[in-house]
Amino acid sequence: MRLHEKVAIITGGASGIGREAALVFAREGARVAIWDFDDSGAEVADHIEKNGGKSFFYKVDVSKAQEVEKALEETENQLGDIDILINNAGITRDGFLTKMSLEDWQKVMDVNLTGVFNCSKVVAQKMMARQEGVIINASSVVGVYGNVGQTNYSATKAGVIGMTKTWAKELGKKGIRVNAVAPGFVATPMTEKVPEKILNRMKDKTPLGRLGQPEDIANAFLYLASDQASFVNGAVLQVDGGLVL
Ligand code: NAP
Repeated sequence: MRLHEKVAIITGGASGIGREAALVFAREGARVAIWDFDDSGAEVADHIEKNGGKSFFYKVDVSKAQEVEKALEETENQLGDIDILINNAGITRDGFLTKMSLEDWQKVMDVNLTGVFNCSKVVAQKMMARQEGVIINASSVVGVYGNVGQTNYSATKAGVIGMTKTWAKELGKKGIRVNAVAPGFVATPMTEKVPEKILNRMKDKTPLGRLGQPEDIANAFLYLASDQASFVNGAVLQVDGGLVL
């Protein structure tokens, strides 16, 4: 078991990649806190508990700093000190630049950037006191290469890479590793909104000839969270089947 006795927070753990990561982490021995504002996070926690694991759901909007502080307090009470934070919650509000509303721009900033900042800030304070911990951020290949219709989303995912590298420098000296995973297109509820024509085009452009599955990304999180990655810090691991070579 690669995460034996570890305590992990997975934001956005109710759905898609986060849900799969919660299941994989629990199978690897971690006690898993699922932070999500979707109530179905409770079902994921139940499923883990029924299979002999330890899990806990906390309903929280990661873009609200005070809610995040309360979530951390409650998680520590239930599961103990935090070893791993996976900043996975994210949203899209797509549209061409000239048609994108300020509201859609701001909403994506609030969740995908401010949410990552809020969670990392409070958890890092605790990890620094213990001189150990791992933070993993969900970026995207569109944060590196851009994507038509995703001004707001690609800006946040590029920002996540900037924060990852900054924190790798700031927190590395305190025993905390910080890395990012940049998935390509993954079959989750998020990409169900993408027209089939575009998804097929992405498959065709991918040398491995398929979309990613949630477990492809969950396994990347697992590697970076485990001691096998003990010298990996500030990396952006692209997991996209070779989409953007
Ligand atoms: P998903 O299936 O939509 O799951 C995201 C989860 O986060 C949902 O349960 C969502 O709740 C929750 N969430 C959204 N805003 C939140 C907030 N403010 N506070 C707490 N929870 C919140 O998405 P996914 O495809 O698994 O994506 C996971 C991460 O990978 C995201 O950061 C995404 O940007 C990134 N990513 C995904 C892909 C892809 O192709 N799927 C590619 C590259 C990167 P609701 O369902 O209620 O909104």
